[in-house]
Amino acid sequence: MSASLYLLIIIIMLLIFFSAIVAKSSHEKDTFSDINTDEWECPNCSFHVQVGDHCIYCGASKQQK
Ligand SMILES: [Zn+2]
Repeated sequence: MSASLYLLIIIIMLLIFFSAIVAKSSHEKDTFSDINTDEWECPNCSFHVQVGDHCIYCGASKQQK
C-alpha cells in the first residue's frame, strides 16, 4: 500500500517536472527575437502601436526603457 503511494508521488513529481520543461521550451520558441509584440503608445503622435518597435503612423522609434 505504502509502496504504491510512493510510486504515485514519484509519478506526479515526474509529470510536474516534465510539464515545467515543456512549458519553458515552448515559451522560448514563442519568443520572437526581432518582432516586439508589446503594445506601446507613440510619444510623438500618441498612436497606439500594437506590433513592432516603430510607429506605423509617423515612423518614430519606441523609447527604450
Ligand atoms: Zn507616431
